[in-house]
Amino acid sequence: MASVVSDSLLFLGTGTSSGVPVIGCFCDVCCSSNPKNNRLRTSALLKIGSKRILLDPCVDFRQQALRFSVDHVDAVLVTHPHADHIFGLDELRIYSQRTNAPISVYGSRATIEEIKVTFRYVFRPPQMGGGVPQLDLHIVQGSFLVCGLPFQTIPIKHGVLDIEGYRIGDVAYLTDCSEIPQTSWPLLEGVQTLVLGALRFRPHPTHFSLDQALAVVARLKPKNTFFVHICHDMDHDSVCEQLPPGVSLAYDGLEIPLE
Ligand SMILES: [Zn+2]
Ligand SMILES: [Zn+2]
Ligand SMILES: [Zn+2]
Repeated sequence: MASVVSDSLLFLGTGTSSGVPVIGCFCDVCCSSNPKNNRLRTSALLKIGSKRILLDPCVDFRQQALRFSVDHVDAVLVTHPHADHIFGLDELRIYSQRTNAPISVYGSRATIEEIKVTFRYVFRPPQMGGGVPQLDLHIVQGSFLVCGLPFQTIPIKHGVLDIEGYRIGDVAYLTDCSEIPQTSWPLLEGVQTLVLGALRFRPHPTHFSLDQALAVVARLKPKNTFFVHICHDMDHDSVCEQLPPGVSLAYDGLEIPLE
């Protein structure tokens, strides 16, 4: 019987910027033996047909690619240029070395400009033969195509920063978010699978707390919600027990089928 491979979203990492465990921390979550409390930095891989679209090349990308056998990447969408979300860009060089083709990287103008500064050596290589990734940078706004698939930017606030979330079909991916602007709510209408940042219980200036994230869920009413960018205040099992139906903390390696 021929096997049917469905499209999916694979959570490569679900932790906040420090990852969990936090270096030098011995709290219950950091010392937990539950693998779901072990969180690499937040990143996800869309698997659509044979296409692999990376959502944020996070600082743990090499580990994630090895752990989850990410043997090729066709395109990269970047939400914003914070270190935890882009410091894996250099690791992409192995793919372009193998295919001798550049990888397209998509982001807002601010994100692309920041990538050019942060990775100056990539765009002005010091010499031939130096190992740098081949990246084709694309500034995006509104709707755009990646590998022939229609994506939509969802502008969100991350503290004072304007950053991007992305939507494909009825899936939305919003990581570092402290506010959804009025104009972005209509762009989220009809979302059935929501990936949303929920840092911790206590409020934070640049990230939704768990309660704030739940308020977004209550308003959007997606079929399924997966929280990411989680810090060491949240024990996976005990928090999941308290969440409403259809809402859970994501964990590294969770793979959800997409319609
Ligand atoms: Zn982050
Ligand atoms: Zn800890
Ligand atoms: Zn951030």
